[in-house]
Amino acid sequence: MEDHVTPRRVVIIGGGFAGLFAARALRHAPAAVTVIDRRAHHLFQPLLYQCASGILSEGQIAQPLRGVLRRHHNVDCLLAEATDVDPQAKVVHAQRPGGEPLEVPYDDLIVAVGMRQSYFGHDEYAAHAPGMKTLDDALGIRRRLYQAFEMAETATDPEERRQWLTFALVGGGPTGVELAGQIREIAGHTLDREFRAIDSAQARVLLFEGSDAVLGAFGPHLADRAARTLRNLGVEMHLGTMVTGVDADGLTVKDRNGASTRFPARTVLWTAGVEAPPIAAALARATGASQDRAGRIAVEPDLTLAGHPDIRVTGDVMSLDRLPGLAEVAMQSGAYAGRAVRHSIEGRKRKPKPFKYVDLGSAAYICRGRAVVKVGRIHLSGRTGWLAWLLIHLAFLTGFRSRFGAVLSWAVVFASGSRRERAFTMPDPPAPPVPPAGPKPSAPSS
Ligand SMILES: Cc1cc2nc3c(=O)[nH]c(=O)nc-3n(C[C@H](O)[C@H](O)[C@H](O)COP(=O)(O)OP(=O)(O)OC[C@H]3O[C@@H](n4cnc5c(N)ncnc54)[C@H](O)[C@@H]3O)c2cc1C
Repeated sequence: MEDHVTPRRVVIIGGGFAGLFAARALRHAPAAVTVIDRRAHHLFQPLLYQCASGILSEGQIAQPLRGVLRRHHNVDCLLAEATDVDPQAKVVHAQRPGGEPLEVPYDDLIVAVGMRQSYFGHDEYAAHAPGMKTLDDALGIRRRLYQAFEMAETATDPEERRQWLTFALVGGGPTGVELAGQIREIAGHTLDREFRAIDSAQARVLLFEGSDAVLGAFGPHLADRAARTLRNLGVEMHLGTMVTGVDADGLTVKDRNGASTRFPARTVLWTAGVEAPPIAAALARATGASQDRAGRIAVEPDLTLAGHPDIRVTGDVMSLDRLPGLAEVAMQSGAYAGRAVRHSIEGRKRKPKPFKYVDLGSAAYICRGRAVVKVGRIHLSGRTGWLAWLLIHLAFLTGFRSRFGAVLSWAVVFASGSRRERAFTMPDPPAPPVPPAGPKPSAPSS
């Protein structure tokens, strides 16, 4: 018989799309739900590039998790990093931001930790070619982008100036394409006539992609349309190239014939590849679950781990039927896992039907008034694609205020090309050395 005095303890690791939708599905369940996240906000990752390029503010794409879940009275949030899981003791091991260890007991566990940037075994590239997965990443990229134009303006050496005005993007998926379009728009429209020594429109944007097409997942027709739009914008595409080195002054790539070329560029951004965070490997070790090459955890059709009906894995970090890492997959799988836990708490005996993803399509923004959208057999591009993109993102942005603010910002960018969120912070330069103390002046004699 169910114990109605002590509610079931449900722990959700991760407050991204999957974790949030799992928590929402548990709203009316007789359960004490704890969402553990190492950040205090829920982030709308698909619009990170708009924050990085100065269209949207951080507040428009990230909401405090507590605020988002404030009406879910059975849900609490815990700012901590989960480090391990003990499935026998049913405990999540975590660390508070200061490093202090915590133990969080659970009856049901939902793991929704997403994926992080992968440098394919070359983590040393990260120092020179940041990725874009977190809010801090986006703000760091914003600083790099706008600072590069400032540095070019004050550079006296023409070669150095060229390097500051060259932006290289590694990876021709949606994020690489979106950022490439944004940088060309910043250079050609946003910064138009603001600088005196440089012509910002001369900035080069280089996009490197290992396969034969950008946006390959959208199919040949839309990939072709996207490539044409990017070329018209002035983006230089280098398809079929592999990056073999990145440093502070640029990158080296190898083409299919094995020829190496060096591209000097002071701004290199990495948008290729993802891997599971370390907690996924810890969970796999503890439960015997298998992982795919990127570290995603294999789940049963009901999203539980084999032999562990109390542990479910959802969102980007789950490996099931080769489902793509999309927000919609995360939302649907998170909601499914939350509902499954709720039904089990309510004592429903029927085994849940296997998780089935309903494909609602995918979209990528290229520039003002241009986007590609694929929904089943419907392929949209150009202005119609952009309108569809707009409606999709408005529907999914969290919170009315974010939606309202985003519409205003998009209207400004669309009408004038100007961006309201261009401020960036910089660390103060080191203080000048204090001169050594000389002999003390003697007191004037009377
Ligand atoms: C730049 C970018 C653009 C994208 N564009 C699109 C798009 O246009 N359309 C689309 O459908 N999808 C897009 N995606 C993918 C989409 O954002 C992801 O599929 C979705 O966010 C996955 O949700 P999730 O909940 O699985 O993971 P996430 O949203 O990544 O959330 C994981 C959460 O877990 C937390 N976490 C991780 N490890 C720990 C730990 N050890 N302890 C505690 N907390 C932890 C993180 O802080 C995070 O809050 C994009 C992603 C990026 C990065």
